[in-house]
Amino acid sequence: MNAPYTPASGLLAGLNRRWARFAARQPLRLPSERAIVTITFDDFPKSAACAGARALERHGWTGTFYASAGYAGDVTHHGAMFDCGDLQRLAATGHEIACHTYSHLDASQVGTAAFLADIARNERALKAMGLERELDSFAFPYGEATPAAKRALSERFSNLRGVHADINRGGADRNLLKSVPIDGGEAGIARAIEAATSLSRHPGWLIYYAHDVQDDPTQWGCTPEQLDRVCDAIVDSGAEVLTMRDAVRQMERTA
Ligand SMILES: [Zn+2]
Repeated sequence: MNAPYTPASGLLAGLNRRWARFAARQPLRLPSERAIVTITFDDFPKSAACAGARALERHGWTGTFYASAGYAGDVTHHGAMFDCGDLQRLAATGHEIACHTYSHLDASQVGTAAFLADIARNERALKAMGLERELDSFAFPYGEATPAAKRALSERFSNLRGVHADINRGGADRNLLKSVPIDGGEAGIARAIEAATSLSRHPGWLIYYAHDVQDDPTQWGCTPEQLDRVCDAIVDSGAEVLTMRDAVRQMERTA
């Protein structure tokens, strides 16, 4: 079982993270009057493919699942991970399969060429597992980005997601979209619900990310009941729920 990796901390890592946020931006025009919500799952555990997808489907929604093919069929600290069957079932029911990296690399700790090679390996592996559609969306593992990786990946993907916890409003950066976690126990779930509630006062694009969805979740996961409560808050907000791919397409059409 993999021990959870923690990205670098400290002053230099903080400055690099800040620099990556402000460099190599690609503005995305968001609708000012309408709220959009996207629910995403990272890595992704089998529990996200089962209990997570079910929670969305109950509302007629589809989500975005960022796959790291190196985890497929394996067991990590999140529990059992997705396999071929999960991938094909999710794709067939309209969910978006999106790209992470094959080995869940931290972009700030490897060269850009190695990072891109791991992404290309992920794409090949997902195709070999039966994925037919092109991958449109990418999420940086740990939310760690570099300006060079942002630039290179913006040529390949329509949108790149990080984990800076906020709602995308005004001058959003499609090369490092902000996202709010559905994790962290009851305090974290309260913050996730508050983010949805704020949309009716102040529209924007609220992207959620989650990991395992199980009765005894990790600190990066949630229970099915907690996810249901976040979904109820999304219903109350009146926001439209779209996958990453569809949200960006719709914004491009209306820009
Ligand atoms: Zn991840």
